[in-house]
Parts: sequence; C-alpha cells; structure tokens
Amino acid sequence: MSEKIKNIAVLGSTGSIGTQALDVIRANPGSFVVEVLTANGNADLLIKQALEFNPNTVVIADENKYAYVKEALQQTDIKVFAGNKAIAQVVQMDTIDVVLAAIVGYAGLESTISAIKAGKQIALANKETLVVAGDIVTQLAKENGVNLYPVDSEHSAIFQCLAGEWHNPIEKIYLTASGGPFRGKDRTFLETVKKEQALKHPNWDMGAKITIDSASLMNKGLEVIEAKWLFNLKPEQIDVVVHPQSIIHSIVQFNDGSMKAQMGLPDMKLPIQYALGYPERMRSDFPRFSFFNYPQLTFEPADTKTFRNLALAYEAMNRGGNAACILNAANEVAVDAFLKDKVSFLGMSNIVEKCLEKINFIDKPSYEDYVATDKETRVVANEWI
Ligand code: NDP
Repeated sequence: MSEKIKNIAVLGSTGSIGTQALDVIRANPGSFVVEVLTANGNADLLIKQALEFNPNTVVIADENKYAYVKEALQQTDIKVFAGNKAIAQVVQMDTIDVVLAAIVGYAGLESTISAIKAGKQIALANKETLVVAGDIVTQLAKENGVNLYPVDSEHSAIFQCLAGEWHNPIEKIYLTASGGPFRGKDRTFLETVKKEQALKHPNWDMGAKITIDSASLMNKGLEVIEAKWLFNLKPEQIDVVVHPQSIIHSIVQFNDGSMKAQMGLPDMKLPIQYALGYPERMRSDFPRFSFFNYPQLTFEPADTKTFRNLALAYEAMNRGGNAACILNAANEVAVDAFLKDKVSFLGMSNIVEKCLEKINFIDKPSYEDYVATDKETRVVANEWI
C-alpha cells in the first residue's frame, strides 16, 4: 500500500489505457482515489465508470451528450461538465495529485499543458503531446517541478532502467518494436491491406489509432520523438530494433558499454501501475513470464524502406521546429481516412510526406504556432485524400 493515497484524474477513461488504468485502481483501492473521469463521446461507459468510482467530477467532451450524462448522474454528488475547455479546467483542481493523460492524439495537448501549469504530476500515455510540442511541454514541466512519468511501455522500460542511474550519461537507447502485423511484408502486399488486417496487432490490444500506427511503424516514429524529449537525447542516440516477441520492452546502453533492459509479458497494466505508483513498485497478480514459453528472443533491423513512416519521423525529429507537429497532424488525418477506407495503407505515408514538404517550417515555434501548424496541416492533408 502507498504511504499516501493518490488522487487521480483519468483523462480518456473510456479508452484502452483509461479502462486498464481503472483496472489497476480497482485492484488497489487503498492506494488510489479517482477524482476525475473524462470521455469524448462514450457517455454510457463514462456513466458506468462514474457510478462505480464516484469521482468528484466527470467531463464529456462531446457537448451534445451533456444532458444525457447529467441526467444519469443526477442522484449523485458527481459534478458534470462538457467540452474540451472543461477538461483543461478540471485538471487544475486542488485535490488532484496525478493526471493520467490518456486522451488520444493532439486533442490531449491542451489538458496536459494545463495540468502541468497547475503543478500536477503527469502519467503520460498521450505521446502525441510530446511529439507536437515537446520543447514547450518539457520546459513547462521543469518550471513547474512536474515529473512526466512515462506510460508507453518502451519509455517506461527506459525509465525503469535509469532508476539509480540518473547521473550516469546514456550512450544510446534502443526502443524495441514488435514490427506489427505486417512485419516482413513488401510494398506490393501492403498496397492492398485493409483496416481489418491492420487492426489485428499480434501482441498488444490497444485503441484503433495506435494500432494502425503500430502497423505502419508510425507509432515507433512517434515514440522515437517522445524519447528524445523525455530523456533529453540527441536523435543519433535513439535506435529502433524489431523484437517480435515484445518481451524486452527497451534497452539503455551506458557509456561503459553496459546495457540494461527491462522485460516482462506485454501487458499495459504493468507500465500504467508503475507510473501511477512511482516511486513504489506495487504488488500485482499479473501473469508472470516463463522463459520456456519463449525459448527464443529475436532481433532484426526495422525496414524503413517498406515502412517509410519511421524514416519520416526521424526526418521530422532531425529538422526540429514544427516539423514533428506537421508529421503528427498529417498522420492523424491519414489514419482517420484509412479507418474510413478513404486512403490506402501506403497512401498514409504519402500524405505525411506531402505535408512535411508543403507546410511552412518554423524554427522556434510558440504554442500558438503549434496550434496554427496543426490546423493548417489538417486542411492540407485533407486535400490529399
Ligand atoms: P483509445 O482510442 O482507446 O481511447 C482514447 C480516449 O480518449 C477515450 O477515452 C476517448 O473517449 C478519448 N478521446 C478521444 N478523442 C477525444 C477528444 N477529442 N477529446 C477528449 N477525449 C477524447 O486510445 P488508447 O487508450 O489506445 O490511447 C490513448 C493514448 O495512449 C494515445 O496517445 C496512445 O498513443 C497512447 N498509448 C496507448 C497504448 C495502448 O496500449 N492503448 C500504449 C501506449 C501508449 P471516447 O471513448 O468517448 O471516444
């Protein structure tokens, strides 16, 4: 049990990460209290969660669903608000200790920044926040004494490997990638794949957007950029290695050549619990790893010729400025279009590439520049669909 009960705001509580975070909280009733729950449009699940966890406040981003949620919770003391502005406001509530940022995509940026400004500790699942505005977000975190605890399994692995090593220089890190459902396939095959195939991830059960990103290797590209900001690394210090079994979650190589890896079964509840419980390693009943079920752990290079998104993400990271913001916005539009059968699997990379070519580069963007870049990129990306 924790020394102090932590009050948690779960942003994106109806999603894959959000529901698994609530599983962790349910399993540790003496350690956590849910203060806030938020959803986009899934009012029924939000109501169900609210009735179970009895938070102080819930927010439904879709304002059309406000009356429905309010009505369903009228017999309780739970406060109900609607809209994304309300999410950004409630994260500043005095009673919150930790904000789990698990909204998907750019939509999570404003609330995460708002929580950091209020000095809340952040358990960060929403990698897009750091991809879009990593410089501003990490600077704000520093100024406000806020720790960003990674939830992404690879970054949690790096973070765990760094425990007790904070003053030792990192030579490089290796982010592991499963390779997704299309590992080893060629471009002819990929030209015809459909969303049903792309949504079948071999090792992880995740939300739709990140599952498509995993199939296209954009997820690994976003993670490379996320790692740069989280661990203050230079682009050349970050490498990707394909490891289809997803047992080694990532590796740090120190400047004496020694390497530390973190391993375990692929289950997001583990990094979620580590981020929420930090610095404590809380007990869990998650299934344990057996070496004999995995007699071989294998490694291979990432195929960036076939899966161009990873190369595009490195390119955006090397350019700096607003390039990664462009990459992210174009990718969000492309993935949405792919999920609606409006663009082919390989067409997604074309949209990202065109946007990186076409949108004005800004070397030192302000927050407003990022907002404008995101908006403009979405318009241009939609023209290519
Ligand atoms: P999901 O799509 O499963 O869930 C997203 C959550 O965000 C839902 O609660 C959704 O509400 C809410 N949401 C979506 N759009 C908006 C919006 N415009 N405004 C407010 N809320 C919104 O995503 P995941 O849980 O898979 O991913 C969440 C984040 O975590 C992503 O950034 C992802 O990259 C990252 N991540 C996820 C992992 C995973 O295993 N799933 C692993 C590592 C990182 P509603 O349900 O009502 O639509």
